[in-house]
Amino acid sequence: MDEQSIIAIKEINEKKPSKPKACVVTFGCQQNVADSEKIKGMLELMGYETIDADMTDDIAGNFGQFDEKSILGSCDAIILNTCAVREHAELKAFSRTGQLKHYKNKNKDMLIGLCGCMPEQKHALEYIKKSYRHVDFVFGTRSIHKFPEIFYETLANKKKIIQNEPAEETIDEQLPVKRDSLFLARVSAMYGCDNFCSYCVVPNVRGRERSRSKDKILEEICGLVLSGYKDITLLGQNVNSYKDPENPGYGFARLLGDITKIEGDYWIRFLTSHPKDVPDELINLMGESDKIARHFHLPVQAGSDRILKLMNRKYTQKNYLELIEKLKKNVKDIAIASDIIVGFPSETEEDFRQTLDIIEKAQFDQIFPFIYSKRENTPAAEMEDKTPRKEKTERFMRLVQMQNLITEKKNKAYEGKTVKVLVDGEHKNSDGGEKKYMAGRTTAHKLAIFEGGPGLVGRFVDVKINSGKLHGLYGDISPAKRP
Ligand code: SAH
Ligand code: SF4
Repeated sequence: MDEQSIIAIKEINEKKPSKPKACVVTFGCQQNVADSEKIKGMLELMGYETIDADMTDDIAGNFGQFDEKSILGSCDAIILNTCAVREHAELKAFSRTGQLKHYKNKNKDMLIGLCGCMPEQKHALEYIKKSYRHVDFVFGTRSIHKFPEIFYETLANKKKIIQNEPAEETIDEQLPVKRDSLFLARVSAMYGCDNFCSYCVVPNVRGRERSRSKDKILEEICGLVLSGYKDITLLGQNVNSYKDPENPGYGFARLLGDITKIEGDYWIRFLTSHPKDVPDELINLMGESDKIARHFHLPVQAGSDRILKLMNRKYTQKNYLELIEKLKKNVKDIAIASDIIVGFPSETEEDFRQTLDIIEKAQFDQIFPFIYSKRENTPAAEMEDKTPRKEKTERFMRLVQMQNLITEKKNKAYEGKTVKVLVDGEHKNSDGGEKKYMAGRTTAHKLAIFEGGPGLVGRFVDVKINSGKLHGLYGDISPAKRP
């Protein structure tokens, strides 16, 4: 990170009559959310007040017109941090970029930037250059540490900067972080992916696997625990293939083991894992430590061995189910979540039934299902895909129906139990009446809803569950504890 650029931008901003505002809009996964926290950290050092805006909502957002009273209308800079994992995400980012033209037309000095996964693809970059001339700067995931230089050139020298080539894959430990929460934190453990699942664009847009030094990670987490953070998530596209760069024998289980030695009242989570990298050492550790959240996101993607092979997933249905069994046996009350892709090229009804079969057998607590989306420059894009969209949608609906019954059943099993919950904030659907409902997460990442007050935010409370429904657990805390 170029500190000179940061200082120079800060000097420019200090001369302005009021503190300028910058908005970072985040699309996509937790890695992008973590990257946005770093971009906001840099912007704050440059003298900006940083704000968030949600442009991901299709229904509620009316971004097609300039609105000076809106958050976006009051901004001096807007940066869209984009996702490219599925076509839908990409189309949304393109559409939002187009809408920002209204804002630029009204305020010529407003700077508009695009970053994240989308510009790491040649075809997307060409399209941005050709179609969105109001965009002032573009950089990809691998160039995040170059943001201050890029931003300085556009702000001070009015240059358009489009980062064409992916930067060298480094890890910049100097990047500041402006955290979105005072009690939930994300800590990047590794970046990139070497798995090359045949449908996935991530290895192309995030580059090769590279891990942070264990000392840096442990230092960051110690600092977070001391500052009162209670729920810390280690992040990586493939977090469980973590290896300390100075000692490749030091893998993810050892890192997690060393983290649990840090004293304090907190949960450590991790996201996302590949089933091929779950050694017994990791499972045993999870069974032994209360500090490690009882939650494992372990994407299976499909149930048919033929499709798993075409996906290049490196396991079979049998291997996967054995792993799940081992986890359930050794880690009490563990909740398992999974990602599923429906309608991968050449998926037959019989293949799909294997996916339903694995869902039935694995009894996931939650799944994130997706309809296969063809991505340029991936091996699956070359595979024949004759299944009509309608059929894929029908399969998708069948899968969701089946999982909903399982989720509901699993949540119902919590009735009568008392669970520890980290209170997140007011429940979104509080009915507006006198009673206030709060929402939080359990160690298994279940949503818990109960009557309470804002004084509980960021604290652990015990909630007695009265009713387990599809979307969460409804319960009560002892009335004496309601602030
Ligand atoms: N690194 C993580 C997440 C990758 S992207 C992991 O491996 O688990 C998140 C999810 O998006 C994937 O697990 C997969 O289910 C889905 N996904 C990725 N590429 C896709 C595509 N081309 N079409 C549909 N879903 C996709
Ligand atoms: Fe994509 Fe597979 Fe890597 Fe996950 S493990 S990011 S699905 S290539």
